[in-house]
Amino acid sequence: MSDDHSIRFKIITLEEHYADQRIMDANSAFNGSRPPMKPEQEEAMKLLMSRSFPGPELLDFGERLRYMDRNRIDVQVLSMTSPVSALVPATEQVRICRQANDITRQHMDEYPGRFMGFATLPMADPAAAADELERCVKELGFCGTMLAGRYKGRFYNEAEFFPIFERAAGLDVPVYFHPALIPMEVQEAYYMSDAYSYVVGSELASAAYGWHSEVGIQVVRLILSGIFDKLPDLKVISGHWGETIPAFLERMDTILSRDITGLSRNVSEYYKDHVYITPSGIMSSDQLEYIVKLMGADHVMYAIDYPYMKPDNVYEFLMESTLPDDEKELIAYGNAARILKVVV
Ligand code: CA
Repeated sequence: MSDDHSIRFKIITLEEHYADQRIMDANSAFNGSRPPMKPEQEEAMKLLMSRSFPGPELLDFGERLRYMDRNRIDVQVLSMTSPVSALVPATEQVRICRQANDITRQHMDEYPGRFMGFATLPMADPAAAADELERCVKELGFCGTMLAGRYKGRFYNEAEFFPIFERAAGLDVPVYFHPALIPMEVQEAYYMSDAYSYVVGSELASAAYGWHSEVGIQVVRLILSGIFDKLPDLKVISGHWGETIPAFLERMDTILSRDITGLSRNVSEYYKDHVYITPSGIMSSDQLEYIVKLMGADHVMYAIDYPYMKPDNVYEFLMESTLPDDEKELIAYGNAARILKVVV
């Protein structure tokens, strides 16, 4: 392959999903039968499922490696898609998560140097989740964890989840916040309308906007909980260019002043210090320039969201941007090497 660029950067991408049939089977044993749906709900669910499980690509590591090679991606940090349903009892969650993480490690061993892992955690039992995170980092060589949505309606800033963040900070590994389906009552109240179809409302409530809004506010709730004063080494990662929050930081500093939050610093100060942002496959040059300007290039990492997103300009998008070479290098590789301790 000819190289159009004078400098060849390494590339590490952080939000890269896979699935495993054994884990899907273990989950489905607990999922039970779902209540009957109206035809428009069935249609919306079908569309959602086709996006949530894009055929065999989640399972196919051969195709994954071909995509990586085509796009000059050296390392993907793997996370398992929808690993454990909230319907699974706590003790079984612990067992299934251990199995899921062991499978991730097997993929790392099978393709040396190409994959790293984010831990899948049993959120029903936060103390066990913290222990599993430690096992994953110390024994399996993982570089953090990815948390999806919230758990049984509870945001992760609530006190019961603190042991997970405390352990992550102690191990010096980041927590990546990933979107998931939002509660039906929020979907109904905010996104559904008589003026457009159920499918349109359902898409608006999920991947178009709704679940991004929810996972974005989760990061702000974490800041407002004061967790970063208690855990000054805690690092979190927010995808999709910060899930709508960056544009509101100045406003939050004004309205959520230190007088009323009782915190030692402004919201934006915590955000810029503790949050690392990725594109999650939204290949927008405007967003790249804006987020680098706002956060600094040392707080931006790369993520594609494979196989939900499969852009074929992963390398060119960064290399042909207007950023200086040292900033491109930080985003492509340097920050991940530093924060996730990935060695390529
Ligand atoms: Ca994703």
